Amino acid sequence: MSREELAVQRARTSFQTGRTKPLDFRVHQLKNLLHFISERCADISAATKNDLGKSQHGTKLFETLGLEGEINLAIENLAGWATPRPVEKNLLTISDEVYVQPEPLGVVLIIGAWNYPWAVTLQPLVGAIAAATKSIIKPSEVSSHSAKVMEEFLPQYLDKDLYPVLTGGVAETQEPLKQRFDHIFYTGSSTVGKLVMGAAARHLTPVTLELGGKSPCYIDKNCDISIACRRITWGKFVNCGQTCIAPDYILCEPCIQSRVIEEIAKNIKEFYTDNPKTFEDYGRIINQRHFKRVMALMEGSTVAVGGDSDESQCYIGEWLMKEEIFGPLLPIITVSGVDEAIQFINDREKPLVVYVFSHNIKLIKRVIAETSSGALLANDCLVHFTVSALPFGGVGNSGMGSYHGRHSFDQLSHMRSCLIKQLSMEGVNSMRYPPHTAKKLSWVRFLLLKQVSVCMLRRMALLATLAGLAAFVVQRFLR
Ligand code: NAD
Repeated sequence: MSREELAVQRARTSFQTGRTKPLDFRVHQLKNLLHFISERCADISAATKNDLGKSQHGTKLFETLGLEGEINLAIENLAGWATPRPVEKNLLTISDEVYVQPEPLGVVLIIGAWNYPWAVTLQPLVGAIAAATKSIIKPSEVSSHSAKVMEEFLPQYLDKDLYPVLTGGVAETQEPLKQRFDHIFYTGSSTVGKLVMGAAARHLTPVTLELGGKSPCYIDKNCDISIACRRITWGKFVNCGQTCIAPDYILCEPCIQSRVIEEIAKNIKEFYTDNPKTFEDYGRIINQRHFKRVMALMEGSTVAVGGDSDESQCYIGEWLMKEEIFGPLLPIITVSGVDEAIQFINDREKPLVVYVFSHNIKLIKRVIAETSSGALLANDCLVHFTVSALPFGGVGNSGMGSYHGRHSFDQLSHMRSCLIKQLSMEGVNSMRYPPHTAKKLSWVRFLLLKQVSVCMLRRMALLATLAGLAAFVVQRFLR
């Protein structure tokens, strides 16, 4: 039996013992994950520095701070998330117990990507622990230092059988993909996402695919271009552009193009100094292969900032618009206005995010109404990632399923429908038993189609209590 098969089998056996289910156990594991982050922060920082050139503060800001927030949120809210969720009833089920019971899916495979090796691998794990699943964690081999620290230290904090770390490259990822899981949570490119989904289909395993794509950024000519470009520069160049939700390209009218270039150039200098190469908050492209890929994307394009530039001849090579850039390049495409920008976005695959910068709320709402994407963020970049209440995920080519906060818990739980009837009140049922008559049907129609919400039930109960009280008062004092 291979290492992968063994890990899945062990995971399944330990899941079947029901060990993951008690809330105390889950909270304990989540607290241990917090301890791992705080006690191993030096190892985490050193690994991320080696992998991506991230500074210590940068690692805290972009990798572990959000994780801490998500863990604390899960610890605080777990009891509420896991509790049965009453639903609306109809008059036929009014006296029954009708609710949704979140139940653990089983054994989950979490496959992480290299660009934020901690955030994108451990954040799904938070949801997985909260949802009482058993999870096999497969960090990306590309961020090898981070993967090594995860493999070495995580088992010292979490239950080894329930949350094993599997390391290795493509072959080592393909091996567990042959096994049967109850859910696969994948973060990475759309190309590999299709392979993962193909492998999952063989076992009818549901998947969450957190993919990438080309996220457009429209700048309205009437907005505060200086602030817009500051926020865009930050969103684009953080982690050297290797961010799934980085703005991939700018759409703007020709009349503001040179101003946009000027402002972005100014901000790059301000953020990363004249010599970003030696500046500690400017990271590194992950490896030679990606470096060559990003350099090749520039072929045939005119570089306005950062290389020999000739702004008058701005031209975008076809490669730059073919695939997700995932590097520190920011093409600017001119359009005649918001109509053409919307058309441009809609002519392409659905992105992970659409960014729009404008003072005009009507224009923003129009972009929301007339385009589709995983998320829409107006007048800023990236920060929707930090709002745990917002489901984070893609649509179409940018992915399926979502997570963060309670959405992670829901994503990795099965929402089981529960209806508990009494064996009494059989008379009510006679209307559905043969022989079927018009009279019975009209009763069923009335009782079945009338929805009764929990609020309505509470109101009815309150009214019934008040009526009872009134009757008591009348009887006792007023007769
Ligand atoms: P990657 O090369 O690290 O691959 C991701 C994972 O897939 C790794 O664990 C790797 O081992 C595995 N893998 C690679 N090839 C495989 C194959 N043939 N079969 C099975 N498994 C395989 O990362 P990447 O794909 O270069 O990641 C970058 C992409 O991820 C970008 O498109 C980016 O936008 C996207 N991304 C998305 C999110 C998100 O939250 N939506 C977050 C980070 C990255």
